[in-house]
Amino acid sequence: MNVSEELLAEIISIRKDIHQYPELSGEEYRTTEVIKSFLKERSIPILPLDLATGVVAEIGKEGPVIALRADIDALPITESTQLSYQSKVQGVMHACGHDFHTASLLGAAAILKEREEKLKGRIRLIFQPAEEQNLGARQVIEAGALEGVEQIIGYHNKPDLPIGTIGLKSGHLMAAVDQFEVIITGVGTHAAAPHNGNDPLVTASQIVTSLQTIVSRHVSPLDTVVVSVTKIDGGNTWNVIPESVVLKGTIRTFKEDIQQKTKQLFEQIVTAYAGAVNQKSEIIWIPSPPSVHNDLILTEQVKEAVSIFADIVEPEVTLGGEDFAFYQQEIPGIFAFIGTGAPYEWHHPNFLVQDEALVYAIQYYLYSATHIINHLKATSKKRLTEEALH
Ligand SMILES: [Zn+2]
Ligand SMILES: [Zn+2]
Repeated sequence: MNVSEELLAEIISIRKDIHQYPELSGEEYRTTEVIKSFLKERSIPILPLDLATGVVAEIGKEGPVIALRADIDALPITESTQLSYQSKVQGVMHACGHDFHTASLLGAAAILKEREEKLKGRIRLIFQPAEEQNLGARQVIEAGALEGVEQIIGYHNKPDLPIGTIGLKSGHLMAAVDQFEVIITGVGTHAAAPHNGNDPLVTASQIVTSLQTIVSRHVSPLDTVVVSVTKIDGGNTWNVIPESVVLKGTIRTFKEDIQQKTKQLFEQIVTAYAGAVNQKSEIIWIPSPPSVHNDLILTEQVKEAVSIFADIVEPEVTLGGEDFAFYQQEIPGIFAFIGTGAPYEWHHPNFLVQDEALVYAIQYYLYSATHIINHLKATSKKRLTEEALH
């Protein structure tokens, strides 16, 4: 399954075009049109799902269905790469390489369509919006994108892996994300007369410090947890004690029991400190993805498939999150890291991807999809024969 020079050149130019016109999560209207027109040109049917942005399409006639997923949104970052195709949209940048993901899935779609007659099943293409807001996966799932789908394949570009390598591991790869907002309410007053009020800033400060003891004192050192308070919002001026303070931040974990324990300790600390001085506390948990957890059998099958053209490496797990995990809550899935050998990490204003890596991403989709579909076809045939014998 070679990627022709001609197709690759087209995919690279689409990648650069999308890169120049990045769109924020949920606003990917132009990108959606670029994807649709590429698919329409190749007569790849688009499924009539109720989505404002993003595209779900399908290749193949009958048999088991597997899905290939790419995310399409950009970030509110001002690009400073000085590339010839640098972002033309002020303050918005493809700093996570979702332009690369989108282009590679288009490339794979073109080749799979050419081979449609030989496919032993159907391949659903999911161009997912709003990954950076953790909203897109849930939106496309709710719209029905996974209906009938047995397994799903995704990946993220990885700047610190060399081009030609693919990071694959079963089990946990990326962390479960919990996002919190805490509101501490006391009584505002003059800064010179604190005894006339009830100062929420002091309480908030104690909470921030105390939350750090969850990791250092309450969870086993062998388990992975991060608790980060990243925003403190309270007060307007130097001589007024405010009525309330808002804290924002995130918790990262891999195991579900540790996640629950951490959240419980978090709630205890917040409630206890505020309660001790008669202040009110409210905790809002913002829905966020669970951990990316790769299916064991699927990982082995994909390793087998991609070893033909790439070097497989054991990737380091990361405490970053990915809303691909929402698909894996529904069906078995595999999420890989594809090396792009680039100097800056995700979300950096100098972030870039090397186009030389695109061919590996396209082949990752192609080889894994066809290999897995063959396996599924074989198992469903076996299942039918066994049923017939009973
Ligand atoms: Zn990102
Ligand atoms: Zn990303």
